[in-house]
Amino acid sequence: MDQKKLKASIIVLIFFLIIFNLYYFSGYIVTRVLCSKNTIINIVAHQDDDLLFLSPDLIHNIESGRCVKTIFITAGDAGSNSTYWTTRENGIETSYTLMSKTDNIWVENQIIVKNNKILIYNLKNNPRISLIFLRLPDGNFKGTGYNNHNYQSIAKLWQDKITSINTVDNATIYTKQSLINILLELMKVYSPIEIHTQDFIGNFGDGDHSDHYATAYFTHEAEKKYTKPHIIISYMDYAIVSNPENVFDEDLLKKQKAFFSYAQYDNQALHQNYTPWLMRQYKIYLKSNQKIK
Ligand SMILES: [Zn+2]
Repeated sequence: MDQKKLKASIIVLIFFLIIFNLYYFSGYIVTRVLCSKNTIINIVAHQDDDLLFLSPDLIHNIESGRCVKTIFITAGDAGSNSTYWTTRENGIETSYTLMSKTDNIWVENQIIVKNNKILIYNLKNNPRISLIFLRLPDGNFKGTGYNNHNYQSIAKLWQDKITSINTVDNATIYTKQSLINILLELMKVYSPIEIHTQDFIGNFGDGDHSDHYATAYFTHEAEKKYTKPHIIISYMDYAIVSNPENVFDEDLLKKQKAFFSYAQYDNQALHQNYTPWLMRQYKIYLKSNQKIK
């Protein structure tokens, strides 16, 4: 091959490499640009907490095209085997698909954050939507944990009754500090302007699920160290049942639909009456760390 032909071949090769890279990373770049000032992180304990307590805000945020990243701290196993909690994960994927009005196709990614493997599912046709499953064991209502996971719970981790906790798939071990660090790192990665979580004002033992409080306490601790201008919102959980109904009409219909699309995958949810919580949504705390421009 003479010099001219060699030069032409190299130029063609470089051209195709550039096109391939642009194609490969275009989704990533578009998502980063779209999400740069538009991201909300929800951090909840179980796969239905966002649907029950953070909605219809959740639905409004998805419908308005914002980037919504929801982190589920526990596997939501309720002491059952992997079939139960993986099915719940399928259920929440189905519900987010419905809220996003697109096909139920998710792209699985694993990222390493501070040496911990994190499982992320991005909605294929709307990569602004991501679900992140940390899969720590469900701690039971009072934080006592379950036999099949050595009675571990995030409530015990928060209260320093245990020093570490294993994920139910045995992929990762967290300490109290490393769980806070991971949440903070995920905040830095996604750069949210709003962080939504459960009730961090209430206390263990006052009538709500221990995982709800522990999740909110861990989130609040990480959020205090997240320096980008943002708003933190804490939502009340089961206690909203004592407040007046405040979700009506189209919002109520959409909230019900999103919940029931999930509940088809969760036997326990399907056979309980969640109507009182579907009819309500209450913020217990809202604060901006700086003036939002
Ligand atoms: Zn829950």
